[in-house]
Amino acid sequence: MRKTTNLVKMPTSKFARIMCRKCRNEQVIFTKIATVVVCQKCGEEIARPGGGEAIVHGKVLEIFG
Ligand SMILES: [Zn+2]
Repeated sequence: MRKTTNLVKMPTSKFARIMCRKCRNEQVIFTKIATVVVCQKCGEEIARPGGGEAIVHGKVLEIFG
């Protein structure tokens, strides 16, 4: 008998495209982050972890994934 493996489906794993409110740089972040995410261009904080989902400080342009 062959043992079947069940693929574990990630619960609502999403990505969001955020625009930095300071320099308008667009950046894609994971919505379930564990650490603070800063803008790669200017260093402004754009998201921080908040009880499972990210608290976004920039402008959310798109959510996908
Ligand atoms: Zn920025």
